[in-house]
Amino acid sequence: MKATVFTPPETKLVIEEVTLDKLGPQDVRVTVEASGVCRSDLSVLRATAEAAGSAGAPPMILGHEGAGVVTAVGTDVRRVKAGDRVIASFVPECGECWYCVRGESNHCETYGGSGAGHVTRSDGSRPLGMSGLGTFAEEMIVHEHAVVPVRTDLPSEQLALIGCGVTTGVGAALWTAQVKPGATVAVFGCGGVGQFVMQGARIAGAARVFAVDPVPMKREHARQAGATDLVDPSSADPVEQIREATGGRGVDYAFEVIGNPNVIMQAYDATRPRGTTVVVGMAAADATITLPAVPLFLQEKRLIGSFYGSAQIRRNFADLVALAESGQLDIGSAVSRRIRLDEVNDAFRAMEAGEVIRSVIC
Ligand SMILES: [Zn+2]
Ligand SMILES: [Zn+2]
Repeated sequence: MKATVFTPPETKLVIEEVTLDKLGPQDVRVTVEASGVCRSDLSVLRATAEAAGSAGAPPMILGHEGAGVVTAVGTDVRRVKAGDRVIASFVPECGECWYCVRGESNHCETYGGSGAGHVTRSDGSRPLGMSGLGTFAEEMIVHEHAVVPVRTDLPSEQLALIGCGVTTGVGAALWTAQVKPGATVAVFGCGGVGQFVMQGARIAGAARVFAVDPVPMKREHARQAGATDLVDPSSADPVEQIREATGGRGVDYAFEVIGNPNVIMQAYDATRPRGTTVVVGMAAADATITLPAVPLFLQEKRLIGSFYGSAQIRRNFADLVALAESGQLDIGSAVSRRIRLDEVNDAFRAMEAGEVIRSVIC
């Protein structure tokens, strides 16, 4: 089968023929029908290539947002069977660890970052699979805890996005922040995940949603996602613009969906007293923020993180599928381009150029 292989420090992915392993007892073999190209793929590529330097590092199959059909399962697998449609999850849910039994499975103790890719290249080397997955391939072998079966007629390109962008974004609004009806919300960063934060806020019944992004295409797209007010941070201070529109107070909930310390502080400053700032974006590994301590105390602000939308995948993937089926959640409009596996390098370029919300390999 074909896979795109990333061989650091080389940053261009190369499509090649690889051989899949035999299935282990808890493994599931999946034909990947669709895979979104997410900013985290590019972040991992960049960081890995840089850390590898000229010495190189193990090859890797990127991609962590995918959906497909199960073709075979290991001898001990009970939760899925051949023929099932599945959504892959880059955080497994083992169902038994300390976090899973507390309904906090997005912190499942079996989550181990990038692991075995379960394939061998023609030169005998063994690529890693990003986040235990590696969806930039025709097929993949993953642990049964990393797939969730779904019964739906939604197209695979939409199911794929539930694997990362939809869950991260909608979940941040619904399950992490638990936005209330009538609330005011600001979303800083209107890429794929930001668009889904706005949809989550709309589904929760937010009365007013500010979309903050310097890219006109993303602000315009935000209207479809539920934004009521478009804020261009390059034209004037976005914090001032939001305060001015909210009686000088700021919003009930501000989401930062970039991972930039300065923008996290803007989101914090745009949050009203007693409001909640939610950090959804993944910052650089060494990034820090410095908070003025007195307003934190005096204004009773809450500053919280949101990882994978605080989602419990076995339950919440089905919830998101149901919301999409009912028309309340629009996943399809986030699919800007459908591409082939060998066009993934160009998808990274298009992402950086701000040309797309999501490119999907399908
Ligand atoms: Zn992602
Ligand atoms: Zn667990």
